Amino acid sequence: MEKKTTGEMIQEIRNKKSAHQMWLRRKVAPYITSIWEDLLESDEGSGKDTIHSLEFHDAIWMASTWLLPGLEVQVVVDDNWNLFISSGTAGFVGFPKEPKGMKLPIRCWIHTHPFGSAYFSGIDWKTVSVWEKHMDCAYVLGGGNHYGFWEQKNPNELTIYHEPVDGFKDEFRVQVKSESLNIPEPKGELE
Ligand SMILES: [Zn+2]
Repeated sequence: MEKKTTGEMIQEIRNKKSAHQMWLRRKVAPYITSIWEDLLESDEGSGKDTIHSLEFHDAIWMASTWLLPGLEVQVVVDDNWNLFISSGTAGFVGFPKEPKGMKLPIRCWIHTHPFGSAYFSGIDWKTVSVWEKHMDCAYVLGGGNHYGFWEQKNPNELTIYHEPVDGFKDEFRVQVKSESLNIPEPKGELE
């Protein structure tokens, strides 16, 4: 048997890893949709409460950090309570173009920051600016009880919640649009 060069071995590993990742990414939409459908049964057919439910957010977070190795996951819930789900490396999210077949207004836009810091990046603020008039609310998930919540009625503010510490009430702070948080922008490319 011919001995492989280091370069060939590395290439082989890369190919396997990327094939594996593609396989996992194909599971994201069915996984989240299945949990969404289970939850809808107790929401009288509409997703009014489900879009805000911790179980639904947990499913999206798990898809991002357990199913996938820390890739961003984005879910857009349209007016018909249909889900438009995508995933990619950090920083890819936002949807400059309307997903095909989506009915406005957007009930909710939910995306993860798998690196664990829930805030709006510059790209995220651009996304809400584009969709502001046609989007009711948005969440950015940082894991557990750490998340940011945006609403149409306060379009320049993101309320960021933190894990309650030692029985204290939920802590929160407000990130305003003009404020550049001293956190590096997630880097990454669309895959
Ligand atoms: Zn983001």
